[in-house]
Amino acid sequence: MKYIGAHVSASGGVENAPVNASEIGATAFALFTKNQRQWVAPSLSAKSIKEFKANCEKFGYLPEYILPHDSYLINLGHPETGGLEKSRAAFVDEMQRCEQLGLKLLNFHPGSHLNKISLQDCLSRIAESINIALSETQGVTAVIENTAGQGSNVGFSFQHLADIIAQVADKSRVGVCVDTCHSFTAGYNLKDPVEYEKVWSEFDEIVGLGYLRGIHLNDSKKELATRVDRHDNVGKGFIGIDFFKRFMADKRFDNIPIILETPDETLWEEEIALLKEFSGE
Ligand SMILES: [Zn+2]
Ligand SMILES: [Zn+2]
Repeated sequence: MKYIGAHVSASGGVENAPVNASEIGATAFALFTKNQRQWVAPSLSAKSIKEFKANCEKFGYLPEYILPHDSYLINLGHPETGGLEKSRAAFVDEMQRCEQLGLKLLNFHPGSHLNKISLQDCLSRIAESINIALSETQGVTAVIENTAGQGSNVGFSFQHLADIIAQVADKSRVGVCVDTCHSFTAGYNLKDPVEYEKVWSEFDEIVGLGYLRGIHLNDSKKELATRVDRHDNVGKGFIGIDFFKRFMADKRFDNIPIILETPDETLWEEEIALLKEFSGE
């Protein structure tokens, strides 16, 4: 079945995220386990951890359908030693927070070359960063998100994701999250029914659907192949409502967290209900 939710607020403590998810009728959710705009954060308290687990159980959220997102500051492909080390340390901390919360996935944007190193060198640095984080933690899968390719961000081509995975030692703990807005503005035409099939076949050939651990389900404020990352609400952008109908009926996306990161949060409850309807379940 489809597990659908949104990236909900964890303000006041991570334990509030499952409560917020439940209020909008979500069956999956995403959260930040720390302030996403700061490098360091206080450790999770024993009380917070306990209440998070209790609330997940109370509202029926299994770790498989919870997709935490790391801080926006982290660049695991950073061209400079200082920035790379800082990012790697922060990423290990994020992985450990997930471990403490009993979570199994951590979603992150791969990184940026900042026009100082080659794209391939950047991908290798990202893979090495993942190897380090996996060797220092247990049970959490590093989930690479594809990007729109804005600025010097890598990961806008499925091939980039495959190139990173190829250099990760423990393939059982690396996965991918496909963001539909990012895919569309990176040039993958999910809007067109024929192209839709081609995009997923290409994904399967290059990366492998077996690596798919989550979806960010967003419409786009920008047109195909513009390489700009601006999410829109369901059916309101350039991808359009027919894509969402097709996607929700597509069995290939059963049993993974499907997360809305759409800008108008007041619509989430409505969007989730509509998407559930599209799934025909
Ligand atoms: Zn996303
Ligand atoms: Zn985005």
